[in-house]
Amino acid sequence: MHRDEAGWQKAADLMVRRQIEARGIADPRVCAAMRSVPRHVFVPEAVAGAAYEDRPLSIGYGQTISQPYMVARVTELLCLPEGGNVLEVGAGSGYQTAVLAAMGMRVIGLERIEALALVARKRLDSLGLAGEIRTADGRFGWAPGAPYDGIVVSAAAEEVEPAWMEQLSGTGVLVVPLAGPFFGERLLVRRKSGNLHEDEWYDFCRYVPLLEGVEPEDPEASASKAPEDPK
Ligand code: SAH
Repeated sequence: MHRDEAGWQKAADLMVRRQIEARGIADPRVCAAMRSVPRHVFVPEAVAGAAYEDRPLSIGYGQTISQPYMVARVTELLCLPEGGNVLEVGAGSGYQTAVLAAMGMRVIGLERIEALALVARKRLDSLGLAGEIRTADGRFGWAPGAPYDGIVVSAAAEEVEPAWMEQLSGTGVLVVPLAGPFFGERLLVRRKSGNLHEDEWYDFCRYVPLLEGVEPEDPEASASKAPEDPK
């Protein structure tokens, strides 16, 4: 499925119309980016046929690629101009990173599971997208790339990590699904204004948890995969 160009573009167009525009996301840049990035490239082969469906999908290692609507929503809330400097915490499949890169942002995606980071980087490269993927514990942000105009967290956090606020520019914006006293999480948009900030709360949602530390790739697992690897 989606092996030919026209097939996936039709599926992506339907996804944007039915799941994103129909739910009120009107930013034409977000919609154009989500039409242009082939989402089926960011999921394992076995679920590629479901890539444009209205739900998250498993990407292995107990992780998921976020539902298309949530990717669009977060990108809209971030609301940055082309050329904006963005950090994504929890790059997973690399899809959110790719959408931001397709909008002309300079984006660094951090992923704690090295095996996922390696695959995500290959996908971005194969599509000619400029996003950078690094294996790191995103709770500490990524100081060398700071200051950021925006930071988007793609895993459920218990609290806003101090490093994120420190690494935002004076007018930067943080979008993070934050755990609360309710079931699941709620999207928090925290806008920095010098030393102060303003909070706004948006959609209730469900994300995989933000975890501590990094998981290096298992050398045995990669060795056994090597013969199938085209590179
Ligand atoms: N935007 C991604 C979401 C993947 S799920 C996509 O659509 O594919 C969230 C990802 O966050 C998982 O891959 C998980 O491994 C990663 N993650 C969790 N805690 C992290 C941390 N402290 N630092 C970096 N990545 C983290």
